[in-house]
Amino acid sequence: MTEHVHVRQVQGLGVSDDGLLVEESRCRCGATWTRTYEAGSPEQE
Ligand SMILES: [Zn+2]
Repeated sequence: MTEHVHVRQVQGLGVSDDGLLVEESRCRCGATWTRTYEAGSPEQE
């Protein structure tokens, strides 16, 4: 097996029931990631 540096390509964005912004990413090798962000929170005050 050959290891490689995963290339995370964003597949889509959504909003969870908790109101979090969900970002789904996938590498062409099949690995997937899910990241969540706080949506609606002020970036700066
Ligand atoms: Zn990969």
